[in-house]
Amino acid sequence: MQINLDSGWLHNVRHLPSPNCNERPEGLVVDLLVIHNISLPPGEFGTPHVDAFFTNTLDHSIHPYFEGIAHLKVSSHCLITREGEVIQYVPFHKRAWHAGASSFGGREDCNDFSIGIELEGTDFVPFTLVQYQVLAEMVKLIQAAYPAITTDRIVGHSTIAPERKTDPGPAFNWTLLGTLLSVGQSYD
Ligand SMILES: [Zn+2]
Repeated sequence: MQINLDSGWLHNVRHLPSPNCNERPEGLVVDLLVIHNISLPPGEFGTPHVDAFFTNTLDHSIHPYFEGIAHLKVSSHCLITREGEVIQYVPFHKRAWHAGASSFGGREDCNDFSIGIELEGTDFVPFTLVQYQVLAEMVKLIQAAYPAITTDRIVGHSTIAPERKTDPGPAFNWTLLGTLLSVGQSYD
């Protein structure tokens, strides 16, 4: 993986552009990274429905759960599947619609200043090792491109929208992510 800083797209990942994005407010520094989980239907992995959901092509007749969400217009910058495949929907310099009503550090509407990454999963099923490995690799690239995203500014959706959201949930191993992020860093 590599980030093309001009285009905002990762190299060597699948690109599926979502219309659910817009420009960030001018002059705003991207300084937050938000981790989510998603699976559609919830708890079913390996389906094509997240791609459809993020591109407004989800067929609500496929599953009862979809009737409640098919009208939503949402996206994230990237999804990491259970197998570690990366799909990018929105270039990083654009404003993806992943956080919804949210606040961090007294600032509202985290979509303005954050990058959103989804892991295919649920709150209670352990994520796969390769998901953490790919996430850590991606976070390091993002931090190199957006140095204001210090490691203490990597948060869960539940942190910025505690009354509405629970993801990435108790199954997400923050300690493992921290360990993987520190590998290869110099302490001298
Ligand atoms: Zn979320």
